[in-house]
Amino acid sequence: MKWDLSKKLYEEACQFIPGGVNSPVRSGRAVGVSPIFARTAKGSHLVDADGNQYVDYVGSWGPMIVGHAHPKVVAAVRGAALNGTSYGVPTELEVAMARKVVAMVPSLDMVRMVNSGTEATMSAIRLARAYTGRKQLIKFDGCYHGHGDSLLVKAGSGLATLGIPGSPGVPEELAQYTLSLPYNDLEAVMEVMGRVGEAVAAIIVEPVAANMGVVLPKAEFLPGLRKLCDQYGSLLIFDEVITGFRLARGGAQEVFGLLPDLTCLGKIIGGGLPVGAYGGKRDIMMRMAPLGDVYQAGTLSGNPLAMSAGLATLELLEQDGFYETLEEKAAYLAKGLTQAAAAAGVEVALNRMGSIGCGFFTAEPVSDFASALKSDTQAYALFFQEMLKRGIYLAPSQFEAFFISTAHEQDDLDRTVEAATEALQQIKEKFGAPSRKKR
Ligand SMILES: *Cc1c(COP(=O)(O)O)cnc(C)c1O
Repeated sequence: MKWDLSKKLYEEACQFIPGGVNSPVRSGRAVGVSPIFARTAKGSHLVDADGNQYVDYVGSWGPMIVGHAHPKVVAAVRGAALNGTSYGVPTELEVAMARKVVAMVPSLDMVRMVNSGTEATMSAIRLARAYTGRKQLIKFDGCYHGHGDSLLVKAGSGLATLGIPGSPGVPEELAQYTLSLPYNDLEAVMEVMGRVGEAVAAIIVEPVAANMGVVLPKAEFLPGLRKLCDQYGSLLIFDEVITGFRLARGGAQEVFGLLPDLTCLGKIIGGGLPVGAYGGKRDIMMRMAPLGDVYQAGTLSGNPLAMSAGLATLELLEQDGFYETLEEKAAYLAKGLTQAAAAAGVEVALNRMGSIGCGFFTAEPVSDFASALKSDTQAYALFFQEMLKRGIYLAPSQFEAFFISTAHEQDDLDRTVEAATEALQQIKEKFGAPSRKKR
């Protein structure tokens, strides 16, 4: 495999774009490669600028749950474009989208469309602060809620990859209102709420954390948060930007049978176009302008191309057996990977829920950010490189999820397990049992 064109494009990109990428997670720095530049993608396959083909497990970081360039999604976008790409007045498409999302996501009475997950979380916390008349927020270490000022504290995703604890440029005066606690540590939340609960506007959480690799909530964690929020009059915000429409039609809140006060959505809801949304109980959402006094706006919000792609994708999720198929594929892959690791004698902690998962290069179970950080990132870097060579595209960071779509075929999964078997052998040869060395 050659990457000449990707390398040339990257060099050129670096002259005009900081780090050559428009989002830091696309950089290959953490895994010691320069990024591959995409040319096309179809179904589960991605083709790079040099013509190399990969089985893709990034899926644009989550949106592509039905695979790339699904004919129904492409037709919807094409059809919409012919009618004009933006109007600045409402459309029937926005009504259809809102109606569908409210029907699918259990806790929503009303929803507002924005253009990214970041906008969704920023708007939701503003609304929570206004509604409660409080300033303090609680989030969890390793959870990522977009790059808004108030939420860039001990965050996951690219910050975890690059080892950035917070960000310069966020005023201390603002950051002091965000407390970050260990994920899955209900005792810590109880302790903090006991002290400052009356000042807490909201607890925001990824119901299944998917930006520090994948970390599942312990059984008591989410119900405990719900109870504490009720007790102290704080709002519970589920950031379902990844889990929404991914774990079930109604997201994690459907799976766990828990109703948050506000929900943030993104990724799948746009079907590969830039969309986010936030919604919740009617009396809270009624505080938004023009009904209420909380301001949030967007020139391109509810954009007809984006609504069309999103609606077409959401309609595909309604097919019978959609999530069962995803689960089967993901379970098959997870089993294959676990067996490959065992055969190679490399210790991997594989966390998975439905079609998202992560194999951490550590012998210990991963239940929070601290345990995720025990992973051997050198071993992951080699794994990434060996998989890339074999035509399997994984996230270029240990602290990200793999995403499976309905377009992943049996052959893709088998090729992936085969490649992983070889790649893990390489790791064994180079590092021995990498997770042991660190202890
Ligand atoms: C991706 C993500 C965001 C941010 O969404 P953008 O569209 O990248 O702004 C927020 N929260 C979670 C859980 C995410 O995974």
